[in-house]
Amino acid sequence: MQRSITSHLVAVFWQLSGMASSLISWDEIWVFMNYSELAPAYIRAIAPYIPGKPISELERELGIPNMGIGGIVKLASNENPLGASPKAIAAAHAALDQISLYPDGNGYALKAALVKRYAVEFEQVFLGNGSNDLLELAARAFLTVGDKGVYSDHAFAVYPLAIQAVGAVGISVAARDFGHDLDAMRKAAVEQGAKMIFIANPNNPTGTFVSGNTLLEFLRALPANILVVLDEAYNEYLPVECRYDSVSWVKEFPNLIISRTFSKAYGLASLRVGYALGNAQIMDMLNRVRQPFNVNSMAQAAAVAALQDTEFVQQTFALNLRGMKQIVDGLTKLGLEHIPSYGNFVSFKIKDATRIYRRLLESGVIVRPIANYAMPDYLRVSIGLESQNEKFLSALQQALT
Ligand SMILES: *Cc1c(COP(=O)(O)O)cnc(C)c1O
Repeated sequence: MQRSITSHLVAVFWQLSGMASSLISWDEIWVFMNYSELAPAYIRAIAPYIPGKPISELERELGIPNMGIGGIVKLASNENPLGASPKAIAAAHAALDQISLYPDGNGYALKAALVKRYAVEFEQVFLGNGSNDLLELAARAFLTVGDKGVYSDHAFAVYPLAIQAVGAVGISVAARDFGHDLDAMRKAAVEQGAKMIFIANPNNPTGTFVSGNTLLEFLRALPANILVVLDEAYNEYLPVECRYDSVSWVKEFPNLIISRTFSKAYGLASLRVGYALGNAQIMDMLNRVRQPFNVNSMAQAAAVAALQDTEFVQQTFALNLRGMKQIVDGLTKLGLEHIPSYGNFVSFKIKDATRIYRRLLESGVIVRPIANYAMPDYLRVSIGLESQNEKFLSALQQALT
């Protein structure tokens, strides 16, 4: 029902004068004064995702426009400081010529490339508009009002959002040393009848990691009717000795959904493309709730090229390893404690985190406050180029004085 402001005010007046109580109820009037009341309570209760501050926004705030990447250092969203593979960028450019056509809704070329890479069936691959899309679609396909989903304290913020957006109930399990306590998560899921468990490995924003063996034990002990979304957004950054072959587990565990992204090590964050690997029945359900064209053609073309450019991923990995050491050494020299990280970022403990964050902004360095992850005494910094890491460390030293 549509009602103009004027007729709405007239209705309020009628109601107050006692003339029109049979024509319009207070409930109805209230709804039109407060449109958020039209949304279900579980939507109104959502605390929106807080992204890293964009460079352009800080430029506006500081009144120094167009400094670009060279001026302001953004180490707030775990983006790839090397950018993207030149081959991926060329492929995205080429795809622009076909911008008037809808993308391939089945993502044939990208799925074929993933099938080849991971030795899975075509039907076991699902593409998302970023992996964020597939995390949400997993919740939408399998959870409904009153169902339960489990995740860890300090885990990636999208899990509670995805669960809450479908009216399901999120259960946050206490972390151990900031990392996932898989035994406790399994017990909570079984005892409370949860349908889905989200695991981030490594986790963002803590950078914590559980070994492949620990994950395997967890999967073996878990009832097969509880779905596991294993979010491996930072998989490519794992040190060689920590790597494990989760894709090979899909055969043994039909309740396992592996989530990966092109946003981090592949450097395609803006294009929005990620993928899930899992059993065909689950992928089928995800396909029913996605938009028909959820991954655009530039993203599909760039992702195919990015997947082939293993050298770029290798460079990214090596740069991150060096940068992690540089930043961790720098933090230690400043007397600051950090949580050992397996990703392309590290969270460190600091007094007055909000004030330090602001002072870093004034120096043109954007990091990420993580008070909304129940870590108000921490800041998260992404690993950048050597010069960016250097700028961050000297700005931090200044901020501390
Ligand atoms: C960055 C991130 C993602 C990926 O986001 P995209 O939507 O693929 O850009 C997923 N999970 C975690 C834990 C992340 O940090």
